[in-house]
Amino acid sequence: MARKSITQQLADWDRRYLWHPFTQMQEWEQETPLIIDRGKGSYLIDTEGTRYLDGTSSIWVNLHGHRHPTLNRALTTQLEHIAHSTFLGLSNPPAIELARALIRIAPKGLGRVFYSDNGSTAVEIALKMAVQYWQQRHPKAGRKNTFLHLKLAYHGDTIGAVSVGNIQLFHERFKPLLFPTVEAEPPYCYRCPLKLNYPSCRIACLDPIEAILKTRHQELAGFVIEPLMQAAAGMVAHPPGYLKRIRELCTRYQVLLIADEVATGFGRTGRMFACEHEGVTPDLMAISKGLTGGYMPLAATLTTEEIYSAFLGKYEEFKTFFHGHSYTGNQLGCAVALANLEVFRKERTLTRLRPKIAAFSRLLRPFANMEHVGDIRQQGFLVGIELVKNRASKEPYPPKARIGHRVAAAARTRGLLIRPIGNVVVLIPPLSTSLAELRKMVQALHVSIEDVLPE
Ligand SMILES: *Cc1c(COP(=O)(O)O)cnc(C)c1O
Repeated sequence: MARKSITQQLADWDRRYLWHPFTQMQEWEQETPLIIDRGKGSYLIDTEGTRYLDGTSSIWVNLHGHRHPTLNRALTTQLEHIAHSTFLGLSNPPAIELARALIRIAPKGLGRVFYSDNGSTAVEIALKMAVQYWQQRHPKAGRKNTFLHLKLAYHGDTIGAVSVGNIQLFHERFKPLLFPTVEAEPPYCYRCPLKLNYPSCRIACLDPIEAILKTRHQELAGFVIEPLMQAAAGMVAHPPGYLKRIRELCTRYQVLLIADEVATGFGRTGRMFACEHEGVTPDLMAISKGLTGGYMPLAATLTTEEIYSAFLGKYEEFKTFFHGHSYTGNQLGCAVALANLEVFRKERTLTRLRPKIAAFSRLLRPFANMEHVGDIRQQGFLVGIELVKNRASKEPYPPKARIGHRVAAAARTRGLLIRPIGNVVVLIPPLSTSLAELRKMVQALHVSIEDVLPE
């Protein structure tokens, strides 16, 4: 009998020892895992040497392509100094320089950076900061201990982040562990809860939100929101003007605006941060995913001097923010994040992205004629295509049909890696994807949908 190939050996060990995230392992164990060995630009290359276009940006993190020389160099240079030293009681050059660089590009008014290491913790930190801020700044304001958020929201998988989220599939099971929150209907225009149409609706879905803020602001510490696009909800895009109005309402009712830019930050929507599209400065902002260009797990919670200053006092007043992680301020992460921002400047990433976003929209137009495409939603390089059983009635496919999963499987045979969200097929290419590669991705997706859903 022939000896097992290295790939087969690894596949066996994977199925024997591993537990993958968001994965039904019974199904996984029946399949052949795709094992990625290398990357280059917009491509991932498996242990057999097969190349695939990275249509998810490795789950929304990669910006400038894989193995970018500037990012690679930043890591090897930092390794000549040190990989990591603690940030509790010590500081380090890349963390200091990165904080300064982030404040320079962040929405005006944000002035402080608190590091952590993933998007969920960046959100958790924002929640804890908000609650402690109200206790210390306005002790007479009463108990501002709860949060408003949208239904379908996704802010991460740790308990606090799940509490302010609302994706049934992820959240229902953990309900007994979650703290209570206040939920509002999201602006899901394709399936408008008010059965109205934009723009004639004049964003009427903001009225119930205003009503909630009006009646319950005394208990609300903050409003947590993904600006412009509820990504994990299946790319649910906000209508223009929505976020700006939310900012105004939060200011009026003294509720902190907490922007979760984990998915939308770092150029994804065409601007450095999605809040910029509406000229909005949040009170707290969580960033992660694109922060290191997809190289290292790093996150940050940015806030204003006003919030920061509420934590100042004598030690024995215990106004300290008692929160931190082993890898807070990690040098490798901060060094590569600095290089990420350098690439934005040197390669004029955002300027060059603009025509590519327009081309992307043009390439997506033919999908609108497909029998089972209900809605196409795009904010820059974040794209979701909602597949429906019946276009006229918008009847969704039942979960059992696994439509998104089947389209993704078909795409894989055509050299494109994507990961669907239910019946929404998602395409999130690295910002550096060339026009030719973008065309290839879109074409592969088109034929994959035709494969699975012939007309
Ligand atoms: C991915 C994501 C998170 C969670 O980030 P992790 O690094 O996976 O913990 C939070 N919020 C949004 C909007 C995200 O897309």
